[in-house]
Amino acid sequence: MPLQSKPLPSSPLSRLCAMTGVFGLLFVMLAAIGAGLVLDLIRSREALIAERVALADQRSQFLAQWLGTTIVSVDYVLKGLNDMIPPEELIRRTATPAETERLNSLLTVKADSLPGVRSLFLYGPDCVYRATSNPAFLGYHSSQSFCTDRQVPVEDRVHLQYIPAEQSVSQQPVLLVARHHSGPDRHMTGGSLASIPLSYAQDWLNTVPVGPNDVLTLTDDSMTILARAPYIADAIGRRLPPRTDTLRQFGSERASQTMVAKSQIDGRERIFGVSKIENVPLLIFVGFDLSDALGDWRKRCWQLGSGFTVLLGLAGIAFRAHRVALRQREAMRRLSITDPLTGVYNRRHLVATGAALAAGSIAQDSPLSLLLIDIDRFKLVNDRWGHPTGDRVIQTLADDMNGESRTTDTVARMGGEEFALLLPGTAAADARAMAERLCLRVRQRPPVMSENGQPVPFTISIGVATLRPGDSFDSLTSRADAALYAAKEGGRDRVFAL
Ligand code: GH3
Ligand code: MG
Ligand code: MG
Repeated sequence: MPLQSKPLPSSPLSRLCAMTGVFGLLFVMLAAIGAGLVLDLIRSREALIAERVALADQRSQFLAQWLGTTIVSVDYVLKGLNDMIPPEELIRRTATPAETERLNSLLTVKADSLPGVRSLFLYGPDCVYRATSNPAFLGYHSSQSFCTDRQVPVEDRVHLQYIPAEQSVSQQPVLLVARHHSGPDRHMTGGSLASIPLSYAQDWLNTVPVGPNDVLTLTDDSMTILARAPYIADAIGRRLPPRTDTLRQFGSERASQTMVAKSQIDGRERIFGVSKIENVPLLIFVGFDLSDALGDWRKRCWQLGSGFTVLLGLAGIAFRAHRVALRQREAMRRLSITDPLTGVYNRRHLVATGAALAAGSIAQDSPLSLLLIDIDRFKLVNDRWGHPTGDRVIQTLADDMNGESRTTDTVARMGGEEFALLLPGTAAADARAMAERLCLRVRQRPPVMSENGQPVPFTISIGVATLRPGDSFDSLTSRADAALYAAKEGGRDRVFAL
């Protein structure tokens, strides 16, 4: 049966408060804790990355400096050789075997003193090796870029070049460190050269401890990979992607840069520190695996996230239980103020509402009227058509009353076949008119049908009373009752007002 009683008006805020109660505060607190956690996690992630960036930068600078020392010491020896052996001596194509032997021995002694250097060479402007610490290569042509492109002007600095195995006289990839003599037009007129096998750089990188997914890479200034730890044969000789173009802006001075980039070799994202060695065209990349760096942080995210989810879940369960309890309480409240047969309010509610409205009306000096309605000769209805038909007549009258009243009015069943209609803000004339309308409506409505299909006509009598100064709800009810009695006495199916 639908509940037809009209709910008491309440503001949306008070309804929300009533619905959520203390849970509103709990959810606000949970939201604040959640937001705080997210902020804290974002900040700690940023701090972790910043820390790793600084460490990568520091490591790459350290390694660059270390390697730089090796190259600088080789360059120092090459400069010494260039000072000792003038270009004129290298220009001469014919040297006596004794002269060549003297230079070879000199180069052998020097090469032995330099860690990592396998061979030292002296060459003329034609790029042919005039002397070498490894006599097997005497007379070979140097593979340096200066020898293939003679237009390139020589600078007074150390030159480094990666030579792949197939171009190398030793058939092994090497790093060439060269110091050239130059003529007045800055064309190369010979020089000295050291070859460092790439395996030396690779061995050196292998000795540096790194995490399982971290990487150390040595490149020349064209970003060609010379060595990599962990070693991947395919990676050697490959050029780094164009994304690292900005690194080319490194000048000759020592410099460093950091970045987060995805490796083309294994697809992992890393935090890189890149350092350039002073005056040496070599770059050292130290790459820390981003995922590994954030491992502990992710674990913390999971822990906090799952803890918070459990908390939310528990709060949700408690809130649901609270809502169910509230709904049950509301249903009980409704039940306690509702007439089960008709769904309109019962006497208890009418009395409570009436007392409150009467007090309010007196205080605000606003009108209040009460209609008491009784079905005429209802006993006969029951007797003739039976109790169930009588019940339907009672329900039909309740429907008519609901149809005739406003949302602010209160429709109540006082008991049996007697009803009340409480009309706030309604003066005597309007209340009477309303009562007349209701009488007419009942009189003219399509009849209720009995169990055996017979029409059951019925009428009502209404007693009307309007609040007067000095009245209480009780006295108002008594007057309405007296008016109803008068209506009955007057012949029924009519309205009487007092
Ligand atoms: P009057 O015109 O003077 O009001 O006559 P009446 O017969 O309506 O008055 P009376 O108070 O003598 O009879 C009321 C009847 O209503 C008696 C009772 O059996 C019946 N009644 C009370 N409650 C219910 C109910 O819930 N359902 C039905 N079907 N009848 C009810
Ligand atoms: Mg009656
Ligand atoms: Mg009665």
